[in-house]
Amino acid sequence: MTLPEGVERHGFDGETSLATRGEPVYGERTDGEWRRWDPHRSKLGAMLENGMETGLDGGETVLYLGAAAGTTVSHVADFCGPTYAVEFAPRPVRELLDAAETRGNLFPLLKDARKPERYAHVVEPVDVVVQDVATRGQARVAALNERFLDDDGRLLAAVKARSEDVTADPDDVFDAVREELSAEYELLETTRLEPYHEDHLGVVARPRR
Ligand code: SAM
Repeated sequence: MTLPEGVERHGFDGETSLATRGEPVYGERTDGEWRRWDPHRSKLGAMLENGMETGLDGGETVLYLGAAAGTTVSHVADFCGPTYAVEFAPRPVRELLDAAETRGNLFPLLKDARKPERYAHVVEPVDVVVQDVATRGQARVAALNERFLDDDGRLLAAVKARSEDVTADPDDVFDAVREELSAEYELLETTRLEPYHEDHLGVVARPRR
């Protein structure tokens, strides 16, 4: 697995970790201009740590769904191009706006990812959709936002089993999500995100067109 340009393994007080260059956002350790990308705090970070082939080279145009306060999307904006960050909860968006202040390529959107028509006039076609919405209907959110992806674009999604069904066996939930996703996407790789995130599935997929 090769890391995208702009993402490196960097030493922080003797501990090596993924890192990007930018202003710190969530109290992460820094060393000069490098900031630690903590895989325990980031599903995309965990996908990279677990060796998933994300296809990210650096410089991509990104639509990020479920940006919250900007922990992960700030790292994405550090090494990607225009990064549209959708989040529907007003409270975290305030912190997301702070993260965007030092990142001219990060565009927070206070929008519902289940209503893409509400941001379709702002978001250009993208190379990558990153999704971490942790809500019921995660496959449906991915299907609704497939329209933004270029033909050779990638979906990088983290699926939280408990958000779909708290009582079901996570493996059964993941099977159902994989099947639903397959209507719109060709699944390239699915890998669980342990030890960083329990009962989460990382998904790399491309549009089925
Ligand atoms: N991706 C974030 C990170 O790594 O920094 C963490 C995301 S948190 C697990 C899930 C977020 O998705 C929450 O902030 C939640 O408000 C948001 N979310 C859930 N459903 C959404 C929807 N339909 N539209 C937009 N945001 C949504």
